[in-house]
This record gives sequence, structure tokens and C-alpha cells, in this order.
Amino acid sequence: MKYNTRNYDYLIVGAGPFGSVFAHEAAKRGKRILILEKRAHIGGNMHTHKEHGINVHDYGAHIFHTNNQEIWNYINQFSEFNGYINQVVANYQGELYNLPFNMNTFYQIWGVKTPTEAAQKIEEQKKQVGSKGAPQNLEEQAIHLIGTDIYQKLIKGYTEKQWGRAATELPPFIIRRLPVRFTYDNNYFNHRYQGIPVDGYTKIFEKMLASEKIDIQLDTDFFADQTGYLTEFPRIIYTGMIDRFFDYKYGELEYRSLRFETQIVDVDNVQGNAVINYTDSETPYTRIMEWKHFDQQGESGKSVLTTEYPQAWDRKKEAYYPVNDARNMTLFKRYRKAANQLEKVIFGGRLGNYQYYDMDQVIHAALQLVKKEFACEGY
Ligand code: FAD
Ligand code: UDP
Repeated sequence: MKYNTRNYDYLIVGAGPFGSVFAHEAAKRGKRILILEKRAHIGGNMHTHKEHGINVHDYGAHIFHTNNQEIWNYINQFSEFNGYINQVVANYQGELYNLPFNMNTFYQIWGVKTPTEAAQKIEEQKKQVGSKGAPQNLEEQAIHLIGTDIYQKLIKGYTEKQWGRAATELPPFIIRRLPVRFTYDNNYFNHRYQGIPVDGYTKIFEKMLASEKIDIQLDTDFFADQTGYLTEFPRIIYTGMIDRFFDYKYGELEYRSLRFETQIVDVDNVQGNAVINYTDSETPYTRIMEWKHFDQQGESGKSVLTTEYPQAWDRKKEAYYPVNDARNMTLFKRYRKAANQLEKVIFGGRLGNYQYYDMDQVIHAALQLVKKEFACEGY
């Protein structure tokens, strides 16, 4: 036994929210767990660190939002949350608009002041392009929801940068993530519960994983010895890329990657908002975050900003987003079938399930697995 030196019940690959929630719950039920994490830290893409007293999110802005009270209570066990409500501003060639699409946006675009006038404008624009029937792609879906003007200024450029392909080649569900509402309400989400942990996300993971039954090996890649790990552990929870697990035997699934550029400046307040999206096609980045506006903490006279650049994924880059179009979903189903045939390995999380999960959905999925896994033990 080279790896399973403490008679572990589980090997968990990935210390992100899926792996960590499962580890926490399994440890509570008396199981011994070894977590392998290829990065130098726990927390997966939710990881944060402090800079001049400001919580910086290392993999893009993470705002917790959910309608599920059980999940909200679950995450609140590990941290207090502030009352942050995400209100994004869009910059289109120097013009500013409120997001998501609401009466403020409709007023800024068309000068309309009532919901009826706004709905009429959208109807006119839909008629002009002959939009009818169920939308088949993101462009059709966007025009169906908010008309051509907003599609051209606030969606097309951003979307095509973000995904590296035409909006006509993307699935409609991606744009349905954003609310469209006929009230003067700039809340980016429709969910009942929303916030940011007051001490950052990393503290949540430190608490979740603080059990003598959980050991963590950082800077350790499962693929350094996949066969060795598979042989030695009775059960494995794998939260990495599903196609990588099978050495891409059916071909690569597509992902999108990102590059983050962070700078610290001697200015108190640079952009006046936590997130500004750049929605034209020429600007190479999609958004800039100014972290202090997420929780009003940190030294005065200092600010930390991160610019997010979308980029193509290749095997040397981090996979951040699955591209859930029809072609990739067909391929994913082949991998899932292969995964289902492996008795002792369970695939979970955004990359293991190749799904555009938010944090609350990942936690929910991990808790569902806990119920299933320990059902026969009466938990
Ligand atoms: P991850 O968090 O990716 O964790 C997986 C871990 O596994 C990683 O640490 C990785 O290093 C490790 N790993 C992978 N392969 C191996 C291997 N071979 N060996 C060892 N370790 C391995 N969600 C929200 O709810 N709200 C938001 O505002 C939000 N904003 C986001 C912004 C961005 C830019 C991105 C990319 C995501 C955002 N999300 C947001 C989604 C959120 O990050 C995910 O839902 C969540 O992190 C997924 O959890 P996970 O455990 O599946 O994966
Ligand atoms: N989107 C857009 N314009 C914006 C913001 C978002 O067109 O200003 C589209 C884009 O296609 C994006 C999708 O809406 O991928 C979902 O946006 P969200 O902010 O939820 O993306 P995430 O935070 O997951 O990257």
C-alpha cells in the first residue's frame, strides 16, 4: 500500500465544493478520507485570499445565490454571509447600461418609461426579424426575450468573446441564466438568498475539512498514478474532467478557459461598482471586478481589480466552462455510460458531470450523493 496508508474508505479527487461537502459529510459518518488536490490550495474555483484586507476571489467573482433554503442553511453553518446583492453595469463602447435586462436598461436603450412601452418595443423588434416558434440557439433565444437592440449591444459581443463561437452555435439555455424583468430592479439574480461570506470562501473550506478523519494532499495530481490510486482505494469520488479520466478515448469534450489579470492600485475606488461587463466585441476581456465593493472591507487608499479574459481551452489550461451544445452532449453521454460501468468511481461536480453548475447546485448534488451513498447505513 503506497497511497492508502491509513485504511481510508474514500479517495476524493478535488478539494472544490463537491469534494469538500462530500468529505465533510462522510467524516461525520465516521469514514476516513484522503483528498488529492492538484492545486496548492483547497476550495476549488471558490478559493479566495486577502490582499490589503480585501477578499480577492482567485477564479472570478463568486456570489452565492439560491432559492433552496436547505442549501442556504447548509452553507451558513460555515460562515456568516453579508447581504451583498450583485448589480452589474455593462459598458458598451463607453455607454453604460444596467444589467440584468430590466426597466432601467429599457429606459437607457429606448427612453421608454413603462413596462407596457418596453414590452411593445420588444414585440416590434421580434416581429421585424420574424421571431416565432421555439428558439433553436442563443441568438434566437435572446431576440425572443429582449429584441434586437439589446441583443446587439449587450449580448452578442460579450457572448461571442466568452464562448469563442457565434451566438447561433450556442444553446439557448445559457442566456436564460440572466433575468428579464419589467421592474426597476438591477438585482442580477432572481433568487431569494444571496450574499458573500464575510471572511471569504477559503475559511468555509478550512472549517468543512477540519476533521481528523480527513487528510489532504495538495499539489498532487490523480493522474500521476491513476492505476495505483484505482487499485488501492475501495471508493473514489472524482471531480475532475470526465474525458481526461478516460484518457480522452472518445475524443476531447470542449471547454472554455479564462485568464485572470489582477492589479493592486493606490486608489480608493476605481470603477464604483463590483462588476463592470464590457459587452462590445473589440475589448478583449469580458469583465472587471473591483473586489472591495463586494464586502466593503479593506484598507482605504488601496484597491484590487481583476480583469477576466476568455480564452480557448487546451490540455495545458484550466477548464472553467463546459460547452453544453448538442455535439458535446452526445459525446458526454458516451463518457457517462463508461463512467456508470465503473463500480467504485463516482463522478461529480462541474467537470465530472460536464454541467454548467452554480455553487448551490454543486452542493445540492453532493448532498444528494451523500443521501444515496449512506442510505443503507441509515443516514
Ligand atoms: P471546482 O471548484 O472546479 O473544484 C474541482 C477541484 O478539483 C479543483 O480544485 C481542481 O484543481 C481539482 N482537480 C481536478 N482534477 C484533478 C486531478 N486530476 N487531481 C487532483 N485534483 C484535481 N457559481 C455561483 O454559484 N455563483 C457565482 O457567482 C459563480 N461565479 C463563477 C465565476 C467563474 C469565472 C467560474 C469559472 C465559475 C463560477 N461559479 C459560480 C461556479 C462555481 O465555481 C462552481 O459551481 C463550483 O466551483 C464547482 O465546484 P466543483 O467542486 O465541481 O469544481
Ligand atoms: N451575457 C451577456 N452579456 C452580459 C453578461 C452575460 O451576453 O453582459 C451572457 C453570456 O452568454 C454569458 C451568459 O449570459 O455566458 C451567462 O452570464 P453569467 O453572468 O451567468 O455568466 P458566468 O458568471 O457564469 O460566466
